[in-house]
Amino acid sequence: MRWRERIGNTLARWFYGRNGVDQLNIALIYLMAAVHLAGWLVRSQAAVLALDAIGTVLLAVTVFRLFSRNLTRRRAENAVFVRYIWRPARNRLQQLRDRSHRYVTCPDCGAVCRVPRIKGTIEITCPKCGAKRRVKG
Ligand SMILES: [Zn+2]
Repeated sequence: MRWRERIGNTLARWFYGRNGVDQLNIALIYLMAAVHLAGWLVRSQAAVLALDAIGTVLLAVTVFRLFSRNLTRRRAENAVFVRYIWRPARNRLQQLRDRSHRYVTCPDCGAVCRVPRIKGTIEITCPKCGAKRRVKG
């Protein structure tokens, strides 16, 4: 067995029955990186200490979640995070990247309608509530 396979198998055995990496842990790692970068930018010693403390707490929470065996609890936490933060942020990023469509929120029901970006105005029908309205393409 090659050494890379051996390391892979060892890691797989180590993480068996544990939570591992989920969306909340990925976000915590990015947040930790942002806190450390902010620590490099500030000049106040008290602020550096505070940011270090926050970074350490984030690291502790991330490691705890990574190796936790209470999968029910960790999955419930992750589900709440994905529903209220991860998915809306991902959708917003996707909308910002999409240059060929405009995203219009229906004033009646709040549904988001994807409209092709064209010259002039077009009439759209909301797929959720059926309301018609004219929007700029
Ligand atoms: Zn609607």
